[in-house]
Amino acid sequence: MPRLFGTNGIRGIPGKDLQPELIVKIGHAVSARLGKKIAIGRDGRISSPMISELLSASLLESGSDVYDTGMLPTPALQFYTGRKKFDGSVMVTASHNPPEFNGIKVVGSTGVEVSRQVEKEIEALVFAEAKLEKNNLATGELISVSDAIDVYLNGITSHVDIEKIKAKKFKVVIDAGNGMQALAAPKLMEELGCTAICINCEVDGNFPARGSEPIPEKLTELAKEVRGLHADFGVAFDGDGDRAVFCDEKGTIQTGDKSGALLAYYVLSAKDKVVTTIATSNLIDWVAEKKNAKLIRTKVGSVDVTDMMINTKAKAGFEENGGFFFAPHQPVRDGAMTLALMLNALAEWKMKFSEVMAELPVFYQRKGKLSCPEELKDQILSRILNVADGNTDTTDGVKISYPDDSWVLVRLSGTEPIIRIFAESSLEARAEELYKKYITIVNDFINKKEE
Ligand code: MG
Repeated sequence: MPRLFGTNGIRGIPGKDLQPELIVKIGHAVSARLGKKIAIGRDGRISSPMISELLSASLLESGSDVYDTGMLPTPALQFYTGRKKFDGSVMVTASHNPPEFNGIKVVGSTGVEVSRQVEKEIEALVFAEAKLEKNNLATGELISVSDAIDVYLNGITSHVDIEKIKAKKFKVVIDAGNGMQALAAPKLMEELGCTAICINCEVDGNFPARGSEPIPEKLTELAKEVRGLHADFGVAFDGDGDRAVFCDEKGTIQTGDKSGALLAYYVLSAKDKVVTTIATSNLIDWVAEKKNAKLIRTKVGSVDVTDMMINTKAKAGFEENGGFFFAPHQPVRDGAMTLALMLNALAEWKMKFSEVMAELPVFYQRKGKLSCPEELKDQILSRILNVADGNTDTTDGVKISYPDDSWVLVRLSGTEPIIRIFAESSLEARAEELYKKYITIVNDFINKKEE
């Protein structure tokens, strides 16, 4: 059976892969599987109102009552879903994908993305075009709600020491990248007595400022503003506001590996558990050991991290792309919660951002990607397994670890015809050596096959 759901919900190009007929069928299936009381939200993409209206109409037709929250960050809708006891919700977003994309994220009654099993059940309903059991042929009711962001921010501030943060009078540059945190993060800063200097905070579905993905190369404006304004730090969010990437007061962009490990250090106590993917830095191994906490690694993907956190009752989770998950709030990645935790950590430690980072051991990373024909992907992994000269782990792709704490990961992208290669070591030259060695192996293999 064909798959609709990818690593992170249903994604596609409206009018091409996301046809109105399909969207309507998804609405019917979501209603049939999740229930009567459904919330809906959307990001600021140009096509989001169209998809949201189609989904609403089909949910209503199926007899569900639809609570429309309008535009908001994905984690805000997730929190609202759990807090207000909905049977589930749908978020119209393609997160950090380019403007022409859109997508549908399906959330269960606890506010967490539905499990892989429920995704399959929804797919089966979509493809079977099952005749829907209607509620006495009555359509549901459409209700507009306007308190979702406030409920979300109240949830966040309940987990931090507001007075301690207020006393520090932090000055922070917020780069919303024309995305959804523009509607929540500045308000959060106000509630925490901080000064927010907002750049790219006009919601725009074309993401004209720096694109919707907060990758370090795109955050030069943020770094410049932080330095120029002598801010305490800066933070950049992705399009739907579930990821946060930080910039220290010197203008250095800190990757999600580092900020995630730092926040884990802050929130973890002895015997707590932290979940991350096999693609993040060994810095978290150091943190877990220091805090006497248990580290669990999963496949790459936020749903995998969330599932593992729930199954193991972990307190925190993170990804190298800036996703941080704080279970006492909700076990999903959440950009504004991440920002609030960072403010609390810095207020408590009474140190500058760069000074805190300097306390952590240094690991060097080298990352790259190669395009690769779909049909060769699996063969490449077998080849890597055959030539691997260290301990191998096949949780996701092939990860080869060495006794000196260095590692290299060769991983297939789930969404594009590319192969990613990551290498890390506490020695810069060693990271480079491992990266070159394995990218050459992959490259030679692809070229030989294509001859
Ligand atoms: Mg996102």
